[in-house]
Amino acid sequence: MGNADLPNGFTGFSHREPGFISAGDAMRRSRAATEAGRLDTDARGFRNTETQAARSGWQVPNTLKPESASVKDRGLWGAANDFFPADMRTYLTEASGDAGPQFDYEKLSQIPAVDKRWSWVEVDLSAIHHNVLSVKQTLGHGTKLMAVVKSDAYGHGAVPCSRSALAAGADQLGVATVDEAVELRQAGIGAPILVLAEPPAATIPLLLAYRIMPSIYTAEFAVQYAEAADSIGLRAPYHLKVNTGMNRIGVRFDEVIEFMRRVSFHRALDLVGTFTHFATADAADTMEFNIQASHFVETIAEMRAFGIDPGIVHAANSAAIIRYPEVHFDMVRLGISLYGYYPCPETYGLIDLVPAMSVHARITQVKNVPVGEGVSYGLLHRSSGFTKVCTLPIGYADGYRRGLSDRIDVIMEGMKHPQVGAICMDQSMFEVDLRTRRSLGRLDPQIGDEVLVVGADGNAVVTIDEMADLLDTVPHEICIGFGTSRMARIYT
Ligand SMILES: *Cc1c(COP(=O)(O)O)cnc(C)c1O
Repeated sequence: MGNADLPNGFTGFSHREPGFISAGDAMRRSRAATEAGRLDTDARGFRNTETQAARSGWQVPNTLKPESASVKDRGLWGAANDFFPADMRTYLTEASGDAGPQFDYEKLSQIPAVDKRWSWVEVDLSAIHHNVLSVKQTLGHGTKLMAVVKSDAYGHGAVPCSRSALAAGADQLGVATVDEAVELRQAGIGAPILVLAEPPAATIPLLLAYRIMPSIYTAEFAVQYAEAADSIGLRAPYHLKVNTGMNRIGVRFDEVIEFMRRVSFHRALDLVGTFTHFATADAADTMEFNIQASHFVETIAEMRAFGIDPGIVHAANSAAIIRYPEVHFDMVRLGISLYGYYPCPETYGLIDLVPAMSVHARITQVKNVPVGEGVSYGLLHRSSGFTKVCTLPIGYADGYRRGLSDRIDVIMEGMKHPQVGAICMDQSMFEVDLRTRRSLGRLDPQIGDEVLVVGADGNAVVTIDEMADLLDTVPHEICIGFGTSRMARIYT
């Protein structure tokens, strides 16, 4: 099969062409479609954060808190007051007496994480479900779907995301390390798990004990693995990784037959699948992609010609799944788009995805800054004097990348406001223009008010995709940054 047999797919549209759909547009459209299809709930899209919180119940998790923490329901001291515990004795044991207070450490540990620090990540598992269904619609009958849940499911939480993906019809799970696979098994997940790289030989006992499938590309590992399995009467199933041009890992495409000859003597080895990975599935240019795809197709054909059954043939990551249906083969490996992000601008609007992650914070200080005074390190932002500068307890140590400083918005009560000044390690500022009015009256930010750093409220949308675009990186890096940070993670 030559290059001409592999159509280019959807290519060649740029940001500037008329009709171009941005990630934000795509999200608004999919949310509208979702709302039209499911009138009873808005659970698939980002939702009004207050109703969302109330429904999931996390915001009022115990009796320590007054019944309402709504930003609309401020006491004398503002919303912040809603978080103060009514009675310190709640935190003491019965033994407290003349000897002084004895703290109840169990009670102390129950203070909700989202109250202890006013920034957190919410993961909407119904979005994961939705995205699996959305991708499955593009797959041919019988094409399997592997949910790639490495790096703690790209910061979304490996165990809950794996469960949601499998419940929605994913067939297998993909991870980067053996420990990631063991975590899933220990949580009781029984689906096939593939480690997407060849692990160190020291993990072989774990692979066999937990039925974790390795990827293999060295004869040394293949033989050690096979002998270990054989010595206790087990088979040694594996997927062969083929390097078709990315030059990261794999048996080079033109050495596969020779490699198979070298290892095939071992009776315990079972070739269960053969796969490759594309270096440029997300690039505007399609030539290198087509070269890799044809190397892979030729390798598979050659294996078959030599009587080697390649097993489950797979190649496509999210970008290739969306852009190049001709490389779906027997299985696709869905990573970034499982979580609702578009792998590259070329895919905006081509598939209906709902982002699973939203990032929330509450205002910790509000102040007027006189005209001309600077804000944050370097004083690079100067006040116009018509604004209130609000501080949020989220910074680059939480994945709110410093490179976004002065270039991104936050959302408060359905309106966007500019982030201003350098994003610090633990905090950042945004500005509310006091000349802005809305039907309700003047904007009046208060300590404790909830703000969306990533998410959507009404028509206001701030996406991980646009952050990735601004920083010239991929959404993978942005969602992992927020999701694996010290912020609490909450499931809705
Ligand atoms: C991470 C990974 C994927 C998933 O890629 P996305 O771009 O996140 O869809 C697929 N295959 C391999 C080998 C990977 O390492």
